[in-house]
Amino acid sequence: MTRYDAIVIGGGLVGSAIAYGLAREGLRVTLIDEGDVAYRASRGNFGLVWVQSKGDGAPHYQRWTRRSADEWPTLAAELSARTGISVGHQRPGGVHLCLGEAELGERRARMERMRIQSVNFGFEYRMLDRRELADMLPGLGPSVIGASWTPYDGHANPLNLLHAPHKAFVEKGGRYVPNTTVGDGQPAPRDFRIAIGDGEIGAPKVVLAAGLGNAGFGPAVRAEGLSAPVEPQRGQILVTERAQRVLPMPTTTVRQTVEGGIMLGDSQEDVGFDTGQEPAVMQTIARRAVLSFPWLRDLQIVRGWAALRVMPPDGLPIYDQSASFPGAFTANCHSGVTLAAAHANRLAPMIAAGALDPALELFSARRFDVPAAA
Ligand SMILES: Cc1cc2nc3c(=O)[nH]c(=O)nc-3n(C[C@H](O)[C@H](O)[C@H](O)COP(=O)(O)OP(=O)(O)OC[C@H]3O[C@@H](n4cnc5c(N)ncnc54)[C@H](O)[C@@H]3O)c2cc1C
Repeated sequence: MTRYDAIVIGGGLVGSAIAYGLAREGLRVTLIDEGDVAYRASRGNFGLVWVQSKGDGAPHYQRWTRRSADEWPTLAAELSARTGISVGHQRPGGVHLCLGEAELGERRARMERMRIQSVNFGFEYRMLDRRELADMLPGLGPSVIGASWTPYDGHANPLNLLHAPHKAFVEKGGRYVPNTTVGDGQPAPRDFRIAIGDGEIGAPKVVLAAGLGNAGFGPAVRAEGLSAPVEPQRGQILVTERAQRVLPMPTTTVRQTVEGGIMLGDSQEDVGFDTGQEPAVMQTIARRAVLSFPWLRDLQIVRGWAALRVMPPDGLPIYDQSASFPGAFTANCHSGVTLAAAHANRLAPMIAAGALDPALELFSARRFDVPAAA
């Protein structure tokens, strides 16, 4: 049996960021990934590094998200220097467009709540009126009456973000095992064994980072006490042909990529494990985008897809270490682009050290163990 310091199961954005972070800490790591049969949110997302709407009612999530966004420039530069791959990160701030008074009122209330909840950490935002917004975003549609803005938001190329940590991980000596499904294994405290191919590997640490696959592991791999009650939530995205550079910053549902294509998205649909596209939803996405920027009507849609988010019941990440099998960790979230820096720079060092910071206690899945009312 070959032994490692850690085994990471799942090579999406979450697993690869953690695996890279562990390898950078000097650990000998194996990263196992199922491959094309799996649901892979990391290959179908919108690419926002988004802060402004994250953590209403959960200030710990607001702080975790913002810290990740703050560390993104360093991570992007480091990945580019190590691998030569640009993850296309830009942080020009971002806006959430409001179409109508009801949306604007709701947004204003939400942003102010978040400012109050942030207490000393602070939360800088502004509500922009139409005139101010029209100066920032050319060709704004008449239906847009205002927006919320924060300086914290940005975007990146999500496929390069997936590629770069993989490459950096392997260059740091990590072993990547693709096209391999982990079903079950043998856990013992600080001694986990997993069969891959015709051999077995073992490590004192295992990280379950298999996205939607985290909910389906056998009880032995999941290790008692590590629950990941994540559910699929479908999102559909459309991409236009390349256009001259028009949009200086991303909005929640329309952003221009570095290459010039404009991404339109993205729906939030509760349809189980259905990854099909639906014309009615695509029409709604396109209609809202054209109301926001009427000039989009003249661009051809060249691509579209649907993918499944990894959604915890309350939308907040789940991070845990098993109490009965110390050394077994789990990481799940629905914002793996935004949180990539937190996962590589903060979570991975904690896992390497063998204990999650008490500040992450609020992200434990134990928060769902609320006894039913009598
Ligand atoms: C439409 C859409 C838009 C999004 N937009 C954004 C956005 O703008 N910004 C943002 O921050 N986030 C966004 N997200 C979310 C982001 O993509 C996810 O949070 C992130 O990709 C989750 O990564 P993951 O590694 O947990 O899961 P996945 O990408 O699903 O990866 C899980 C991996 O685990 C592997 N696996 C599964 N089971 C096993 C097994 N048994 N054995 C071995 N390997 C296994 C699979 O092969 C897969 O590669 C979006 C998601 C969607 C769907």
